[in-house]
Amino acid sequence: MAAEHITLRVQRQDRPDAAPRTETFRIPYRPNLNVISCLMEIRRKPATVEGKATTPVAWEQNCLENVCGSCTMLINGRPGQACATLVDRIGRDIELRPLTKFRVVRDLVVDRTPMFEALKKVKAWVPIDGTHDLGPGPVISAEDQAFRYALSQCMTCGCCMEVCPQYNEKSEFLGPAPMAQSYLFLIHPTGRLHETELRHGAMGEGGIHGCGNAQNCVRVCPKNLPLTDAIAGLFRETAVQWLKDLFARR
Ligand code: SF4
Repeated sequence: MAAEHITLRVQRQDRPDAAPRTETFRIPYRPNLNVISCLMEIRRKPATVEGKATTPVAWEQNCLENVCGSCTMLINGRPGQACATLVDRIGRDIELRPLTKFRVVRDLVVDRTPMFEALKKVKAWVPIDGTHDLGPGPVISAEDQAFRYALSQCMTCGCCMEVCPQYNEKSEFLGPAPMAQSYLFLIHPTGRLHETELRHGAMGEGGIHGCGNAQNCVRVCPKNLPLTDAIAGLFRETAVQWLKDLFARR
């Protein structure tokens, strides 16, 4: 009986300014492999299906348990985590490409710095004054806790940015994930003490007004963040702030 194989077509790019090319690899099939395991198998003996020796494929990985988001790539055209994608689920003919909304560093490695810069821009944090005991915090309903916990699971993987039509090189929009994190801190009781600053962060250049309500983000988020609820909430918050600013000028 012929051996069973997995075929992987991988987009290669040696440097950020180099032209991309595709190389095809064939590795032996084993049950329960994830995409990272396939890449590791290629790395053991990097040669294309034609038998031509090549360099090992570069990719990023860290936690290997779908928490860090670093191994996010386009797998058969859909953004996802290589660690959490099983060959037995997607089939043995696999295409791997880097995310398209970020600068390619090498092969499947992209530079997601713009996401982290966006979090800084919208001030997505709660400032605390030292590490001394501040006493018990306010009581938060179980319903609010559940909503905030869901938002807090963002792993800055970039899937939502990849599919957002408003997040591109021609637009200033900072993307769905930073908007959701802005809202998370805005609805936090301590963050609420800084609501004006947080709302202005979300109203500034690249802010919530850039969202076109395509709702692609919520369909691909691997953590099932309630992104559209957060974005709707942020629209309400910034509308209130816009009115407050308007009356303050009169
Ligand atoms: Fe990834 Fe979801 Fe966070 Fe977007 S919101 S970066 S898809 S975890």
